[in-house]
Amino acid sequence: MVEVKEAVPENEEPISRSREANWPAVLFFIHIHLLSLYGLWLLIFEVKLLTLLFFFTLTSVAILGMTTGAHRLWAHGAYKASTGLRVTLMLFQTLAGVGSIYDWVQYHRLHHAHFATEDDPYDYNKGFVYAHFLTRLRKLSPQQEKLKSAIDMSDLENDSIVMFQKKAYWFLYAILFALLPLNAPLEYWDDTVLSSVFVVGFLRYLIVLHASWLIDSAISVWGLRPGEKSPPDSNTVFILTKTFWPHYHYLVPYDYKSGEYGTYDCGCSSAFIRVWAALGLATNLQTVETHTIQKALADAARTQKDLKTCIDEAVVNQKLPEEHYLKRG
Ligand SMILES: [Zn+2]
Repeated sequence: MVEVKEAVPENEEPISRSREANWPAVLFFIHIHLLSLYGLWLLIFEVKLLTLLFFFTLTSVAILGMTTGAHRLWAHGAYKASTGLRVTLMLFQTLAGVGSIYDWVQYHRLHHAHFATEDDPYDYNKGFVYAHFLTRLRKLSPQQEKLKSAIDMSDLENDSIVMFQKKAYWFLYAILFALLPLNAPLEYWDDTVLSSVFVVGFLRYLIVLHASWLIDSAISVWGLRPGEKSPPDSNTVFILTKTFWPHYHYLVPYDYKSGEYGTYDCGCSSAFIRVWAALGLATNLQTVETHTIQKALADAARTQKDLKTCIDEAVVNQKLPEEHYLKRG
């Protein structure tokens, strides 16, 4: 479970909340979207089958590195991983090209710590386009920078694999993300330079970027809006079933079953974590059983305490059966 340090002392003067444009990011995103269009045409009509398979494999592996690695393992401590698995997930995450695990986790924890407030860089109240994309075109405000530097990152600072990647990030990025993938189609199965650069280069980068951004903006797509009548009587049922409700992730971020893309307990990433657990590579899988959530809801209604506090208290007394990850639900 990840704690966030208390941020701004009350007697301090307010700091600016305005966010300047990040022009290098603006130019980069315009170019990568335009260049990927040609990559898409090549993907459909030109590339060799092996390049296609290579493209899908690299994309899937990078997304797995983001969901099971950067998000569930490192940002939320949803399970513990062996050294070998952590090295593998670090390499997978490098293939996403979204910056080091350390930097990504710091932003994601800032998002959780100030969720749906003005200081949340991915505030879903401003709409999907803002939370997903427009926010990436701006630097953090001085206020957000200050809050970011107050985020507790000590667990990652004690993780030698994360810190190695942070130090060697641009070297790893150049070799693993760019040079090796771009070279493979030319070297091993004689595809064209255009296919390699536009499909394995630009198009892959674009898809992985959007998949990574969705981890922060998914709630705008699959979450419920305030007052939404689905189901008609109460939205509470979504907490009970932990389904179709990314809001659950913001209440219980350490549940390893919370899918990044609107699912609970049925995605590929959860399946991979279960397999790793069965192989002994992943341990201490965190989850909350339905009856624990029910108890927390009853406590919240009875004591008028905050639901998140009641869930955290109920989890302390929860006894998960051994090898609970082998059964669904
Ligand atoms: Zn999260």
